[in-house]
Amino acid sequence: MFATLSDRLTGILTKLRSKGRLTDADIDAAAREIRLALLEADVALPVVRVFINAVKERARGAEVSQALNPGQQVIKIVHEELIGILGGEARRLQFAKQPPTVIMLAGLQGSGKTTLAGKLGRWLREQGHQPLLVAADLQRPNAVNQLQVLGERANLEVYAPQPGNGVGDPVQVARDALDHARRQARDIVIVDTAGRLGVDAEMMAQAAAIRDATSPDETLFVIDAMVGQDAVTTAEAFRDGVGITGVVLAKLDGDARGGAALSVRHVTGQPILFASTGEKLDDFDVFHPDRLAGRILGMGDQLTLIEKAEQAFEEDQKERMSAKLFGGEQLTLDDFLEQLQAVRKMGPIANVLGMVPGMAQMKDQLAEVDDSQLDRVTAMIRSMTPAERANPKIINGSRRARIAAGSGRTVTELNQLLSRFADAQKMMKQMGGMFGMPGMGGRKA
Ligand code: GDP
Repeated sequence: MFATLSDRLTGILTKLRSKGRLTDADIDAAAREIRLALLEADVALPVVRVFINAVKERARGAEVSQALNPGQQVIKIVHEELIGILGGEARRLQFAKQPPTVIMLAGLQGSGKTTLAGKLGRWLREQGHQPLLVAADLQRPNAVNQLQVLGERANLEVYAPQPGNGVGDPVQVARDALDHARRQARDIVIVDTAGRLGVDAEMMAQAAAIRDATSPDETLFVIDAMVGQDAVTTAEAFRDGVGITGVVLAKLDGDARGGAALSVRHVTGQPILFASTGEKLDDFDVFHPDRLAGRILGMGDQLTLIEKAEQAFEEDQKERMSAKLFGGEQLTLDDFLEQLQAVRKMGPIANVLGMVPGMAQMKDQLAEVDDSQLDRVTAMIRSMTPAERANPKIINGSRRARIAAGSGRTVTELNQLLSRFADAQKMMKQMGGMFGMPGMGGRKA
């Protein structure tokens, strides 16, 4: 995500960090480089101007000249200004006082609307809501069917035009769906609308008609982050033609340059509410400007990591583990195995590590860390007896040979695991944390 921009900015800022004092010339030079990096990432010119002016003004001010580490201070300013152009605080969905809350999705064809309907529906159900998905995209031949398939996968009800009733009239479908939602006590209605490949008057009129028929509480514009600032021009057209209350950044997982993401808030004046990051239903998250800004600057995404870890570890698992740690008990290899499984649930390990501060810059090394490494460690632990797992100290030479043979690994690998585990045991005692990860040496065995 935004790899080039991220590399460029980190490079520019790292140079600044190494300087003891910053002259105006240093600041101007860095500002010029940042400006170029943003333009090359396809960020809209007005956004670049506002951003650079703000950074320059603050960087020349007292907060930097009086700082102990001026370079560091500039990084902080760039981070804060990035958060600013991404919208500042995360904004939550607005719900209707009188349910159902209507969320209308708008955007060009292929931007990711239909997929988002499924993701958003699933996410809202996890929050305790009863969403209904509405197939009001009757333009794209397969859209209704696609939504039905998504609905089935997410176990969500989909309201689609009945044969012979409302076919061809998306406004009628939306209206009927709302009645249906009221009868079925659905508290949220997500309306998927048609998109074209480009903005046209007919599509805009149709979207406006659906809006008038359903009075949405939120009209979310779904923008394909891969398209760059062109997509932002489309967002403006929708804002003026239909009225939008928020933006969803889709396809943030791709090799987007960053232009759309960094421009859309400023250009449309509307906040980014969600981010879509893949084709799977759970590749979806509330959008946090500070986290994306942190990621762009290679600061890692600590908060996302913490949240993922929270989800991956079951409540009782967390309680047991912290009871152990605070009770001063030793961590066993069984506990460790359980943690490994939880880490595995968080996704491909290279992605997980990519969210750790500082790790994002180690892309090449991270590519080397693969999930099979975790699997090898798992295999070795599984080849141990319960007594060995509970007390690794008893694993002597002959036991080592047996475990290595049993798991198809070498004794050297096993030795590495055991010595790292002993270190982790010590570290965990000191930190009381959840992440001791022996076996993650960073090299392939
Ligand atoms: P719509 O025409 O706006 O309804 O777009 P779709 O939901 O059909 O999405 C178009 C294509 O983009 C499909 O192949 C989706 O699987 C894919 N897609 C949607 N969202 C994402 C995303 O966040 N990441 C990636 N990589 N692909 C996505």
